Amino acid sequence: MARESQGRPSGCRIMMIPLGMAEPAQSALLGLDLQELTALVHRHGQPEYRARQLFDAIYPQRLTRLNAISTIPRAFLTALDAEGLDIHPPVIEKSFASVDGTIRHLMAMGDSETVETVWMPEGDGGEAGDGSDDLDTDIPAENAQDWRRATICVSSQVGCAVNCRFCLTALLGVKRNLTAGEIVGQITAVLSDRKVDLERQRVNIVFMGMGEPFLNYDNFMKAVRLLVEGVGFPESRMTVSTSGIVPRVRDFGGEEIRPRLAISLNAPSDPLRERIMPINKKWDLAQLMRAVRDFPLRNREKVTFEYVLLNGVNDEPSHARQVVELVRGIRCKVNLIALNPGPGIDFATPEQERVKDFQNILVQAGIPAFVRRPRGRDIYAACGQLKRTVGDL
Ligand code: SAH
Ligand code: SF4
Repeated sequence: MARESQGRPSGCRIMMIPLGMAEPAQSALLGLDLQELTALVHRHGQPEYRARQLFDAIYPQRLTRLNAISTIPRAFLTALDAEGLDIHPPVIEKSFASVDGTIRHLMAMGDSETVETVWMPEGDGGEAGDGSDDLDTDIPAENAQDWRRATICVSSQVGCAVNCRFCLTALLGVKRNLTAGEIVGQITAVLSDRKVDLERQRVNIVFMGMGEPFLNYDNFMKAVRLLVEGVGFPESRMTVSTSGIVPRVRDFGGEEIRPRLAISLNAPSDPLRERIMPINKKWDLAQLMRAVRDFPLRNREKVTFEYVLLNGVNDEPSHARQVVELVRGIRCKVNLIALNPGPGIDFATPEQERVKDFQNILVQAGIPAFVRRPRGRDIYAACGQLKRTVGDL
């Protein structure tokens, strides 16, 4: 079979993720919360307020080196340095700029593993219709750069184990989880690179890069809390997308601080979904949709369903009608994404007309449906195209 010859094993590899998957040595201060920093300053016999000074330097101020912190005595900084401790943010190793303004960054972690983080000025259209647009007028014209709002697409793992058939990241398998600091650090590095002033400029975060965030749940949630409490992002401007790790969808509903939820639906029936997303064998549509129906949405909040359209596979009018039945009664919107093609992906992108027809069926049934504009396809930065293509471009 062509699939196997391209190095992709059949079936779902979820069960094969080693439980103690390697994580880099913990010499980075980026990723520590206030409690952990407090323990650190106590261990060094320092007054407690030093923890807050470290926290402020790392998160709101986004400093990248300890020796840039002017408020803390040199002797303490030297003592931290002697332990090999520093802020250690991920480093932008390479950047690829698209004609549409999208920038794909290759980020190097402390152990030289790399992931990709994408900057999309003006968002990708996926936020449209979720009520977030009304805040656009926040930005005074004199401070606006050449973008009014932007979205950062963040990775949660090095590679991905879920093995969806249409996704290039899947071809990598999973190497390891990212730490909370490595997740936060992708964002702080891009904010600094773009010289973003969060008080004046509008940035959304989508956890839709490489990896399955809900298979790295604790680090992902810790990163979210650091972004909200440290860096200063409102949780309402973050969205996490999952392929459907049902127990974690339920845990996520119980979190006090949490982003919005997006579900990669991609097919309206079990046989079809199993074929393109092997994870469906572990948690089928009935289990997934029950978890979504039970999900405690907040005031004005909607759940997003993402649906990658694969020509002649899941994009027939009958599939659209099945989607209508599946999501009936759920406060939601549907984001349609015409397949972003890539080497090793055996599916084709549908014509625009087919995408429109699919959208119309949903809209006419009263379901808000949006077609996501592909961003940065020319630099392999679009959804499902992230795969550390160091040599490719
Ligand atoms: N692992 C998570 C988040 C990252 S993938 C998840 O799957 O939800 C982000 C989105 O990109 C998902 O909705 C996925 O269905 C979509 N996607 C993956 N490969 C794609 C491709 N080749 N073309 C278009 N969208 C794709
Ligand atoms: Fe992993 Fe998401 Fe790609 Fe599926 S679509 S392989 S879950 S990154």
